[in-house]
Amino acid sequence: MYEVYALKYAERDTTACQFFYREPSHAVLTLHYYVWLILGGPHPILVDVGFLDDDARARGMRAYVSPAAMVERAGIRPSDVPLAVITHLHYDHWAGHSLFPAAEYWIQRDEIAFWTGPFGHSPAFRQSANVGALARLVELTYADRVRIVEGDREVAPGLRVHRVGGHTAGLQIVSVETRRGTVVLTSDASHFYRNVETRQPVQIITSLPEMLVAFETIHALAGDGGRIVAGHDPKVAERFEVVESGIIRIA
Ligand SMILES: [Zn+2]
Repeated sequence: MYEVYALKYAERDTTACQFFYREPSHAVLTLHYYVWLILGGPHPILVDVGFLDDDARARGMRAYVSPAAMVERAGIRPSDVPLAVITHLHYDHWAGHSLFPAAEYWIQRDEIAFWTGPFGHSPAFRQSANVGALARLVELTYADRVRIVEGDREVAPGLRVHRVGGHTAGLQIVSVETRRGTVVLTSDASHFYRNVETRQPVQIITSLPEMLVAFETIHALAGDGGRIVAGHDPKVAERFEVVESGIIRIA
């Protein structure tokens, strides 16, 4: 059976009005940045790869630790990660890919199409992009290190990706069967628990209806006894077991 860990590698403050859809409050809101590690299968599987210190500096992050160092602290050498599911191509989920030099990256076709298509560079979207990291997608694809997937796919027995879109064109979430029920890694289909629990969208979107459907998909996948892991919520450390600083055991 799988074990699932959230590994926190950075944090940053924003305000509620910058974040929740049509939210008037200017209250401070702290984002935590995670990668997720799935153990217990034939090999480790990483979900997302974080970013490097250039983005940490440029975007005013606090408490940055390389995602590779966090994976190492959890007992896995970064070069021993053969597969990384990439939920979407925003800088905080993709720009750290070079930290995992043996990984094959599983990415939705719609996501790649979006960032290489006519809208990614527009002001509405480009601030979430690390252009250099997006450019390397082509080299990695030609080096046979990108698995382009469409829709729902089994990654390994009991571990699936599900394309939900909404926040980005090809956003995918991950469901994992564990001894403690189904774990749903929502990534940015629900940055905070407030998103999925009150059905309030974030304001970074490609499709609002898809985002609303994604909330229902998350609940349906988790079922009654499942464990939902929000993508950027500090509350993940309150709802699950903190093993040591920055390492949270979900199941
Ligand atoms: Zn994110």
